[in-house]
Amino acid sequence: MEMCAQQTEFETFLGDLRPRALAGQISARVFDAAFENMTFLPEVLAAQENQPEFAFSLRGYFVRSLPATRVAKGRAVVRERRDLFNRIEARFGVGAQTIIAIWGLETNYGRQRGQHHVLAALATLAWRGRRKQFFEDELLAALAILQDNHISTEKMIGSWAGAMGHGQFMPSSFQAHAVDFDRDGRADIWHDDPTDGLASIANYLAENGWQNGASWGAEIILPDGFDYTLSGLQHSLVCAEWVEHDITLKAGGRLANYGPASVLLPAGANGPAFLVFTNFKVLLSYNNAVFYALAVGMLADRIAGSREKSITMWPDQLPLSRADFAALQQALSDAGHPAGSIDGLQGPDTARAICAFQKAHGLPEDGHGAASLLTMLQGLPR
Ligand code: CA
Repeated sequence: MEMCAQQTEFETFLGDLRPRALAGQISARVFDAAFENMTFLPEVLAAQENQPEFAFSLRGYFVRSLPATRVAKGRAVVRERRDLFNRIEARFGVGAQTIIAIWGLETNYGRQRGQHHVLAALATLAWRGRRKQFFEDELLAALAILQDNHISTEKMIGSWAGAMGHGQFMPSSFQAHAVDFDRDGRADIWHDDPTDGLASIANYLAENGWQNGASWGAEIILPDGFDYTLSGLQHSLVCAEWVEHDITLKAGGRLANYGPASVLLPAGANGPAFLVFTNFKVLLSYNNAVFYALAVGMLADRIAGSREKSITMWPDQLPLSRADFAALQQALSDAGHPAGSIDGLQGPDTARAICAFQKAHGLPEDGHGAASLLTMLQGLPR
Protein backbone atom coordinates (compact mmCIF):
# COMPACT_ATOMS: atom_id res chain seq x y z
CA MET A 1 0.00 0.00 0.00
CA GLU A 2 1.22 3.45 -0.73
CA MET A 3 2.39 5.64 2.11
CA CYS A 4 -0.32 8.21 1.38
CA ALA A 5 -3.08 5.61 1.57
CA GLN A 6 -1.61 4.27 4.80
CA GLN A 7 -1.40 7.78 6.24
CA THR A 8 -5.10 8.23 5.44
CA GLU A 9 -5.89 5.00 7.30
CA PHE A 10 -3.74 6.16 10.22
CA GLU A 11 -5.67 9.41 10.40
CA THR A 12 -8.94 7.49 10.29
CA PHE A 13 -7.70 5.45 13.26
CA LEU A 14 -6.90 8.66 15.16
CA GLY A 15 -10.37 9.99 14.36
CA ASP A 16 -11.90 6.79 15.76
CA LEU A 17 -9.67 7.03 18.83
CA ARG A 18 -10.73 10.61 19.64
CA PRO A 19 -14.11 9.81 21.31
CA ARG A 20 -12.51 7.00 23.32
CA ALA A 21 -9.81 9.41 24.55
CA LEU A 22 -12.34 12.11 25.40
CA ALA A 23 -14.43 9.55 27.30
CA GLY A 24 -11.23 8.80 29.26
CA GLN A 25 -10.95 12.41 30.49
CA ILE A 26 -8.54 13.62 27.80
CA SER A 27 -9.58 17.12 26.73
CA ALA A 28 -10.30 17.86 23.07
CA ARG A 29 -7.67 20.60 23.18
CA VAL A 30 -4.92 18.22 24.37
CA PHE A 31 -5.93 15.47 21.95
CA ASP A 32 -6.09 17.73 18.90
CA ALA A 33 -2.82 19.50 19.72
CA ALA A 34 -1.01 16.21 20.32
CA PHE A 35 -1.99 14.67 17.00
CA GLU A 36 -1.86 17.72 14.78
CA ASN A 37 0.15 16.86 11.65
CA MET A 38 1.22 13.52 13.12
CA THR A 39 2.49 10.87 10.74
CA PHE A 40 2.86 7.21 11.61
CA LEU A 41 6.36 5.75 12.03
CA PRO A 42 7.06 2.85 9.64
CA GLU A 43 10.39 2.18 11.38
CA VAL A 44 8.50 1.40 14.60
CA LEU A 45 6.45 -1.29 12.88
CA ALA A 46 9.65 -2.68 11.34
CA ALA A 47 11.33 -2.75 14.76
CA GLN A 48 8.41 -4.69 16.24
CA GLU A 49 8.43 -7.09 13.30
CA ASN A 50 12.17 -7.75 13.56
CA GLN A 51 12.52 -8.21 17.31
CA PRO A 52 15.26 -10.79 17.70
CA GLU A 53 14.68 -13.82 19.85
CA PHE A 54 17.16 -14.12 22.70
CA ALA A 55 20.25 -13.57 20.56
CA PHE A 56 23.03 -14.42 23.03
CA SER A 57 24.03 -17.42 25.04
CA LEU A 58 23.54 -16.90 28.77
CA ARG A 59 27.29 -16.52 29.14
CA GLY A 60 27.25 -13.89 26.43
CA TYR A 61 24.31 -12.09 28.04
CA PHE A 62 26.06 -11.76 31.39
CA VAL A 63 29.39 -10.81 29.83
CA ARG A 64 27.62 -8.03 27.91
CA SER A 65 25.51 -6.89 30.87
CA LEU A 66 28.22 -6.78 33.52
CA PRO A 67 31.41 -5.40 31.98
CA ALA A 68 34.00 -4.01 34.39
CA THR A 69 33.52 -0.54 32.86
CA ARG A 70 29.84 -0.58 33.87
CA VAL A 71 30.71 -1.59 37.44
CA ALA A 72 33.35 1.18 37.62
CA LYS A 73 30.93 3.78 36.25
CA GLY A 74 28.29 2.67 38.75
CA ARG A 75 30.75 3.12 41.63
CA ALA A 76 31.64 6.57 40.30
CA VAL A 77 27.94 7.48 40.21
CA VAL A 78 27.58 6.55 43.90
CA ARG A 79 30.42 8.93 44.77
CA GLU A 80 29.23 11.76 42.52
CA ARG A 81 25.64 11.74 43.74
CA ARG A 82 25.96 10.51 47.32
CA ASP A 83 23.71 13.24 48.73
CA LEU A 84 20.94 12.54 46.20
CA PHE A 85 21.03 8.80 46.90
CA ASN A 86 20.98 9.41 50.66
CA ARG A 87 17.85 11.52 50.28
CA ILE A 88 16.23 8.95 47.97
CA GLU A 89 16.98 6.12 50.41
CA ALA A 90 15.61 8.15 53.33
CA ARG A 91 12.33 8.72 51.50
CA PHE A 92 11.78 5.42 49.63
CA GLY A 93 13.89 2.86 51.49
CA VAL A 94 15.88 1.69 48.47
CA GLY A 95 19.68 1.72 48.53
CA ALA A 96 21.77 3.41 45.84
CA GLN A 97 23.33 0.30 44.29
CA THR A 98 20.04 -1.22 43.11
CA ILE A 99 18.76 2.02 41.60
CA ILE A 100 22.11 2.56 39.87
CA ALA A 101 22.19 -1.02 38.57
CA ILE A 102 18.77 -0.57 36.94
CA TRP A 103 19.87 2.81 35.54
CA GLY A 104 23.01 1.18 34.12
CA LEU A 105 21.19 -1.75 32.51
CA GLU A 106 18.20 0.20 31.19
CA THR A 107 19.92 3.23 29.64
CA ASN A 108 23.68 2.90 30.28
CA TYR A 109 23.40 5.51 33.05
CA GLY A 110 21.13 7.79 31.07
CA ARG A 111 23.17 7.82 27.88
CA GLN A 112 20.72 5.72 25.82
CA ARG A 113 17.20 6.86 26.66
CA GLY A 114 15.73 6.29 23.17
CA GLN A 115 15.22 8.59 20.21
CA HIS A 116 11.60 8.10 19.18
CA HIS A 117 8.69 10.43 19.63
CA VAL A 118 6.72 8.30 22.05
CA LEU A 119 3.28 9.57 21.10
CA ALA A 120 3.83 8.81 17.41
CA ALA A 121 5.41 5.45 18.21
CA LEU A 122 2.55 4.38 20.49
CA ALA A 123 -0.08 5.65 18.02
CA THR A 124 1.58 3.62 15.26
CA LEU A 125 1.61 0.46 17.40
CA ALA A 126 -1.98 1.01 18.59
CA TRP A 127 -3.04 1.44 14.96
CA ARG A 128 -1.43 -1.55 13.34
CA GLY A 129 1.08 -3.35 15.57
CA ARG A 130 0.78 -6.56 17.51
CA ARG A 131 -0.91 -6.13 20.91
CA LYS A 132 -2.98 -3.15 19.69
CA GLN A 133 -5.08 -2.86 22.84
CA PHE A 134 -2.00 -2.81 25.09
CA PHE A 135 -0.50 0.03 23.06
CA GLU A 136 -3.78 1.95 22.86
CA ASP A 137 -3.98 1.88 26.66
CA GLU A 138 -0.38 3.12 26.85
CA LEU A 139 -1.15 5.82 24.28
CA LEU A 140 -4.07 7.08 26.37
CA ALA A 141 -1.81 7.07 29.44
CA ALA A 142 0.76 9.12 27.49
CA LEU A 143 -1.95 11.66 26.59
CA ALA A 144 -2.88 11.95 30.27
CA ILE A 145 0.79 12.64 31.12
CA LEU A 146 0.82 15.46 28.54
CA GLN A 147 -2.46 16.80 29.91
CA ASP A 148 -0.93 16.87 33.41
CA ASN A 149 1.90 19.06 32.01
CA HIS A 150 4.79 16.80 33.01
CA ILE A 151 6.38 17.17 29.57
CA SER A 152 5.66 18.51 26.08
CA THR A 153 4.78 16.32 23.10
CA GLU A 154 8.12 17.12 21.42
CA LYS A 155 10.17 16.25 24.49
CA MET A 156 8.32 13.00 25.24
CA ILE A 157 11.11 10.82 23.83
CA GLY A 158 11.74 7.12 24.37
CA SER A 159 12.24 3.70 22.82
CA TRP A 160 10.32 2.53 19.77
CA ALA A 161 7.99 0.64 22.13
CA GLY A 162 7.29 3.70 24.29
CA ALA A 163 9.67 3.15 27.24
CA MET A 164 10.73 6.56 28.52
CA GLY A 165 13.43 8.27 30.49
CA HIS A 166 16.29 7.12 32.71
CA GLY A 167 14.49 4.00 33.96
CA GLN A 168 12.56 3.31 30.71
CA PHE A 169 9.05 3.64 32.16
CA MET A 170 6.04 2.83 30.02
CA PRO A 171 3.37 5.56 30.36
CA SER A 172 1.22 3.40 32.67
CA SER A 173 4.26 2.81 34.92
CA PHE A 174 4.89 6.56 34.91
CA GLN A 175 1.32 7.16 36.07
CA ALA A 176 1.65 4.57 38.81
CA HIS A 177 5.14 5.31 40.11
CA ALA A 178 6.83 8.47 38.76
CA VAL A 179 7.62 11.16 41.34
CA ASP A 180 8.53 14.86 41.29
CA PHE A 181 11.48 14.57 43.63
CA ASP A 182 12.96 18.04 42.99
CA ARG A 183 9.54 19.64 43.57
CA ASP A 184 9.36 21.77 40.44
CA GLY A 185 5.81 20.58 39.74
CA ARG A 186 6.70 17.96 37.11
CA ALA A 187 7.85 14.35 37.37
CA ASP A 188 10.43 14.91 34.64
CA ILE A 189 12.01 11.51 33.99
CA TRP A 190 13.13 12.70 30.51
CA HIS A 191 15.45 15.49 31.69
CA ASP A 192 19.23 15.20 31.44
CA ASP A 193 19.24 15.79 35.19
CA PRO A 194 18.28 12.30 36.46
CA THR A 195 16.91 13.38 39.87
CA ASP A 196 13.26 12.62 39.15
CA GLY A 197 14.16 9.58 37.02
CA LEU A 198 16.23 7.92 39.75
CA ALA A 199 13.73 8.71 42.51
CA SER A 200 11.00 7.24 40.30
CA ILE A 201 12.94 3.97 39.95
CA ALA A 202 13.22 3.85 43.76
CA ASN A 203 9.52 4.56 44.17
CA TYR A 204 8.66 1.81 41.65
CA LEU A 205 10.63 -0.72 43.71
CA ALA A 206 9.26 0.57 47.03
CA GLU A 207 5.65 0.37 45.86
CA ASN A 208 6.25 -3.21 44.71
CA GLY A 209 7.45 -4.30 48.15
CA TRP A 210 11.21 -3.66 48.24
CA GLN A 211 12.77 -4.62 51.58
CA ASN A 212 15.58 -2.21 52.33
CA GLY A 213 18.75 -3.83 53.57
CA ALA A 214 17.69 -7.29 52.42
CA SER A 215 19.52 -9.16 49.70
CA TRP A 216 17.96 -10.15 46.37
CA GLY A 217 19.74 -13.51 46.57
CA ALA A 218 23.08 -15.23 46.18
CA GLU A 219 24.76 -18.03 44.28
CA ILE A 220 24.63 -21.32 46.15
CA ILE A 221 26.05 -24.81 45.96
CA LEU A 222 23.57 -27.67 45.90
CA PRO A 223 24.44 -30.97 47.56
CA ASP A 224 24.79 -34.16 45.55
CA GLY A 225 21.41 -35.79 45.19
CA PHE A 226 19.51 -32.49 45.58
CA ASP A 227 15.82 -32.95 44.84
CA TYR A 228 15.45 -30.68 41.78
CA THR A 229 11.67 -30.77 42.02
CA LEU A 230 12.10 -28.31 44.94
CA SER A 231 13.54 -25.68 42.57
CA GLY A 232 11.62 -22.86 40.92
CA LEU A 233 10.02 -19.63 42.09
CA GLN A 234 6.78 -21.48 42.88
CA HIS A 235 8.51 -23.27 45.80
CA SER A 236 9.50 -21.22 48.83
CA LEU A 237 11.09 -22.37 52.08
CA VAL A 238 12.68 -20.41 54.91
CA CYS A 239 16.45 -20.44 55.19
CA ALA A 240 16.55 -22.88 58.11
CA GLU A 241 14.73 -25.40 55.92
CA TRP A 242 17.15 -24.88 53.04
CA VAL A 243 20.03 -25.40 55.45
CA GLU A 244 18.48 -28.77 56.29
CA HIS A 245 18.64 -29.55 52.57
CA ASP A 246 22.43 -28.93 52.81
CA ILE A 247 22.44 -25.79 50.68
CA THR A 248 25.53 -23.61 51.15
CA LEU A 249 26.60 -20.20 49.84
CA LYS A 250 29.16 -20.28 47.05
CA ALA A 251 30.96 -17.30 48.61
CA GLY A 252 31.01 -19.01 52.02
CA GLY A 253 29.47 -17.78 55.25
CA ARG A 254 26.05 -18.33 56.76
CA LEU A 255 22.77 -18.16 54.87
CA ALA A 256 21.11 -14.93 55.97
CA ASN A 257 17.40 -15.03 56.67
CA TYR A 258 15.52 -12.62 54.40
CA GLY A 259 12.22 -14.49 54.55
CA PRO A 260 10.84 -17.03 52.08
CA ALA A 261 13.45 -18.15 49.58
CA SER A 262 13.44 -20.14 46.35
CA VAL A 263 16.14 -22.14 44.60
CA LEU A 264 16.56 -20.97 41.03
CA LEU A 265 18.35 -22.87 38.25
CA PRO A 266 18.10 -20.44 35.32
CA ALA A 267 20.19 -22.67 33.04
CA GLY A 268 19.16 -26.04 34.46
CA ALA A 269 21.14 -28.43 36.63
CA ASN A 270 24.35 -27.80 34.66
CA GLY A 271 24.43 -24.03 35.26
CA PRO A 272 24.77 -21.90 38.39
CA ALA A 273 22.22 -22.18 41.20
CA PHE A 274 20.82 -19.26 43.19
CA LEU A 275 18.80 -18.77 46.34
CA VAL A 276 16.50 -15.78 45.77
CA PHE A 277 14.40 -13.75 48.20
CA THR A 278 11.44 -11.37 48.08
CA ASN A 279 13.53 -8.57 46.55
CA PHE A 280 14.22 -10.76 43.52
CA LYS A 281 10.48 -10.88 42.85
CA VAL A 282 10.39 -7.08 43.19
CA LEU A 283 13.06 -6.85 40.47
CA LEU A 284 10.90 -9.15 38.31
CA SER A 285 8.01 -6.68 38.77
CA TYR A 286 10.23 -4.09 37.08
CA ASN A 287 11.04 -6.34 34.13
CA ASN A 288 9.65 -9.85 34.13
CA ALA A 289 12.76 -11.69 32.91
CA VAL A 290 14.83 -13.88 35.25
CA PHE A 291 18.13 -13.06 33.52
CA TYR A 292 17.43 -9.33 33.75
CA ALA A 293 16.67 -9.54 37.47
CA LEU A 294 19.82 -11.60 38.07
CA ALA A 295 21.89 -9.07 36.13
CA VAL A 296 20.48 -6.19 38.22
CA GLY A 297 21.20 -8.05 41.46
CA MET A 298 24.73 -9.01 40.47
CA LEU A 299 25.56 -5.54 39.13
CA ALA A 300 24.20 -3.96 42.33
CA ASP A 301 26.35 -6.28 44.48
CA ARG A 302 29.45 -5.41 42.48
CA ILE A 303 28.76 -1.68 42.62
CA ALA A 304 28.40 -2.07 46.40
CA GLY A 305 31.87 -3.57 46.46
CA SER A 306 31.43 -7.32 46.45
CA ARG A 307 34.47 -8.99 44.93
CA GLU A 308 33.91 -10.26 41.43
CA LYS A 309 34.24 -13.89 42.33
CA SER A 310 33.88 -15.99 39.28
CA ILE A 311 30.42 -17.43 39.40
CA THR A 312 29.81 -20.86 37.98
CA MET A 313 30.14 -20.66 34.21
CA TRP A 314 26.92 -20.01 32.40
CA PRO A 315 26.33 -22.40 29.49
CA ASP A 316 27.58 -21.00 26.22
CA GLN A 317 24.68 -22.42 24.18
CA LEU A 318 21.95 -20.24 22.74
CA PRO A 319 18.65 -20.79 24.53
CA LEU A 320 16.08 -22.70 22.46
CA SER A 321 14.26 -20.55 19.93
CA ARG A 322 10.49 -20.47 20.15
CA ALA A 323 10.24 -22.87 17.20
CA ASP A 324 12.69 -25.30 18.81
CA PHE A 325 10.86 -25.05 22.12
CA ALA A 326 7.63 -25.94 20.32
CA ALA A 327 9.45 -28.94 18.76
CA LEU A 328 10.53 -29.95 22.28
CA GLN A 329 6.92 -29.74 23.49
CA GLN A 330 5.76 -31.86 20.56
CA ALA A 331 8.47 -34.47 21.11
CA LEU A 332 7.62 -34.69 24.83
CA SER A 333 3.96 -35.20 24.02
CA ASP A 334 4.84 -37.82 21.39
CA ALA A 335 6.96 -39.60 24.01
CA GLY A 336 3.96 -39.86 26.34
CA HIS A 337 4.58 -36.77 28.49
CA PRO A 338 1.89 -34.22 27.53
CA ALA A 339 3.44 -30.73 27.52
CA GLY A 340 0.24 -28.69 27.25
CA SER A 341 -0.34 -26.51 24.22
CA ILE A 342 2.43 -26.58 21.61
CA ASP A 343 3.08 -22.83 21.66
CA GLY A 344 6.85 -22.56 22.08
CA LEU A 345 6.43 -20.83 25.44
CA GLN A 346 7.81 -22.06 28.74
CA GLY A 347 5.14 -22.81 31.28
CA PRO A 348 4.33 -25.12 34.17
CA ASP A 349 2.82 -27.84 31.93
CA THR A 350 6.02 -28.10 29.90
CA ALA A 351 8.21 -28.03 33.01
CA ARG A 352 6.17 -30.90 34.49
CA ALA A 353 6.45 -32.90 31.24
CA ILE A 354 10.22 -32.33 31.15
CA CYS A 355 10.53 -33.47 34.79
CA ALA A 356 8.47 -36.60 34.02
CA PHE A 357 10.70 -37.41 31.05
CA GLN A 358 13.86 -36.76 33.07
CA LYS A 359 12.62 -38.98 35.90
CA ALA A 360 11.80 -41.79 33.48
CA HIS A 361 15.34 -41.59 32.06
CA GLY A 362 17.27 -41.16 35.32
CA LEU A 363 18.23 -37.54 34.61
CA PRO A 364 18.28 -34.67 37.16
CA GLU A 365 14.69 -33.39 37.30
CA ASP A 366 15.41 -29.70 36.71
CA GLY A 367 12.53 -29.16 34.25
CA HIS A 368 14.87 -27.15 32.01
CA GLY A 369 14.23 -27.12 28.27
CA ALA A 370 17.75 -27.34 26.85
CA ALA A 371 18.99 -28.12 23.36
CA SER A 372 20.58 -31.33 24.65
CA LEU A 373 17.14 -32.51 25.81
CA LEU A 374 15.62 -31.81 22.40
CA THR A 375 18.44 -33.72 20.70
CA MET A 376 17.88 -36.66 23.02
CA LEU A 377 14.12 -36.69 22.43
CA GLN A 378 14.55 -36.47 18.68
CA GLY A 379 16.91 -39.46 18.84
CA LEU A 380 14.35 -41.69 20.57
CA PRO A 381 13.05 -44.60 18.52
CA ARG A 382 9.50 -43.97 17.35
CA1 CA B 1 10.56 17.59 38.99
